Amino acid sequence: MKMRAAVLESFGNPLVVQQVELAPPRAGEALVRLKACGVCHTDLYTASGVDPSGYAPCVLGHEGAGVVEELGEGVQSLQVGDHVVTLFSPECGECLHCRSGKTNICLAIRAQQGKGYLPDGTTRLSRNGEPLRHFMGTSTFAEYTVMPEIALAKVDPAASFETTCLLACGATTGLAAAIWKAEVEQGSTVAVFGCGMVGLGAVVGAKLRGAERIIAVDRSPGRLELARSFGATEVLRADELDPVAAILDATAGFGADYTFEATGRVDVMGQAVEAARMGWGLCTILGVAGRGEKLEIVPRLLITGRRVQGGSFGGARGRTHVPQLVDMMVRGELDLDGFVSHRISLDQVNHGFELMEAKDGIRSVITFP
Ligand SMILES: [Zn+2]
Ligand SMILES: [Zn+2]
Repeated sequence: MKMRAAVLESFGNPLVVQQVELAPPRAGEALVRLKACGVCHTDLYTASGVDPSGYAPCVLGHEGAGVVEELGEGVQSLQVGDHVVTLFSPECGECLHCRSGKTNICLAIRAQQGKGYLPDGTTRLSRNGEPLRHFMGTSTFAEYTVMPEIALAKVDPAASFETTCLLACGATTGLAAAIWKAEVEQGSTVAVFGCGMVGLGAVVGAKLRGAERIIAVDRSPGRLELARSFGATEVLRADELDPVAAILDATAGFGADYTFEATGRVDVMGQAVEAARMGWGLCTILGVAGRGEKLEIVPRLLITGRRVQGGSFGGARGRTHVPQLVDMMVRGELDLDGFVSHRISLDQVNHGFELMEAKDGIRSVITFP
């Protein structure tokens, strides 16, 4: 079929929205009609050419939500008409890692996905007969996508597409880290470094878990105000004071029970470790640092009981946890409407990148008619 898609033709240049070809789903795959898609830093990072594993041309986009329109052979867990969220991190349920119950890093399709192919090593995307590669196994800056069944989370259709698409990436990363990865305890003190979508997700997750104090750290007063509106009880301007000293001060010198890092900066990761409480403080690293960068930790911090963990996608197992988060939205326990700052069309995708570079709002969401 023919469809419109935003193609990364070459690094460092705007995406070009154009007509491309999409082949029907093969065995174990589904055709999804996109209804909404968030514009994320990871898309921009790849488009800029800084990402060493990036490739072009390809169709970018990974924060999609839509409706299943056609099934390939053998698909059991999805039906035509199902509402789904696209997952760059699949959950096959059968590999060694999925069966362990200890990690969300599914081994099923990693190798091919990283190279821009679907699991059978081919692409469904093409242009004038030339294959066009997929991005993160998702390629959701497009009217339609074909994806493996194991990378689609079936969710309650009562939730809106423009909020469920946020759960494809950043929002789930922060939420899942606080709820399931760190398992924040009721009455605890939490510090969140960085108040973009991931950090705000951690604030919301910590609040859901009943944290008593949530200290948000950022350089932007606007972001800190947002953090307050999502549940932060105290805010710290990282450009005006030493956040570690301020957190120790605010906790009788002990530090926070849980800290979350959501900036991708290794110096901030170090601060998040230092601000964790002596004895049992748990620091969860969520930001993606530049290749080759190192996090330095004074061993004394670990010997005296602080723990450090990390989690891609916040440790969320996509097909298990994303539907649970959507259920919480439908029940009114979780409200992500405030995360959507701009609604744009597919043709305005480059404007979405500009808004992000200007740090204007939290998330631009492409909506499809
Ligand atoms: Zn993303
Ligand atoms: Zn697996």
